[in-house]
Amino acid sequence: MYCYNDITHKHTLGSISEMSIRKAIESREKTGPIPEICDTCNMRERYKAGEFLKVMAKHIKNKMLG
Ligand code: SF4
Repeated sequence: MYCYNDITHKHTLGSISEMSIRKAIESREKTGPIPEICDTCNMRERYKAGEFLKVMAKHIKNKMLG
């Protein structure tokens, strides 16, 4: 599936019986948003700058502490 939000399974990438998981992920990474399902998705713009900075600060802190 393109996305778990595509509940009608209208936008498929292919069959996992015919491609590897890696190929499926690579194929998905090449796609862009599909207006039909993405335009009203509440996941878009979910992570604001503040959240992103907190995660980065935590990641850097964990790396420094080892
Ligand atoms: S924006 Fe929403 S519907 Fe679109 S790919 Fe991301 S999670 Fe799925």
